[in-house]
Amino acid sequence: MRKEFLKKTSERLLGMKKLLLGEIQDRLKGESEGGKDEGRDTYDLASDERDREINMILSDREREKLLAIDDALQRIDGKTYGNCECGCDQCEGEIGLPRLKVLPFTRLCVRCQEETERENRLIRRIDEPGPYRKLTGADAEEDSF
Ligand SMILES: [Zn+2]
Repeated sequence: MRKEFLKKTSERLLGMKKLLLGEIQDRLKGESEGGKDEGRDTYDLASDERDREINMILSDREREKLLAIDDALQRIDGKTYGNCECGCDQCEGEIGLPRLKVLPFTRLCVRCQEETERENRLIRRIDEPGPYRKLTGADAEEDSF
């Protein structure tokens, strides 16, 4: 993997993280508005206390995104970035650069991603209880006449 690309990607990831944290920070500030003049103290809080506070305000989606960003950054540091993590037989081993450009925190190559999605769809199909039926609702309506 080219160093230049890794550097650019890590900058991009850090930018995304900053943006996301900025939004959260704004939301925190918005919530604590109400006469209290503690805005600046938020930054001085012990970091895990602040993490906890940030965690509480995050949606699942945002939390996942933050984790994915941190994860990708760690993989860049650990020089494993761009390796597909699936380890199956048909794996291409490395995730293509065009794919990484579009999805900088992906952990699977195109092949494995498609394979995983197909499996997930299969599992979902088995789990589904079948189409919803609302027979009782229609019957009950007749009383209103
Ligand atoms: Zn793969």
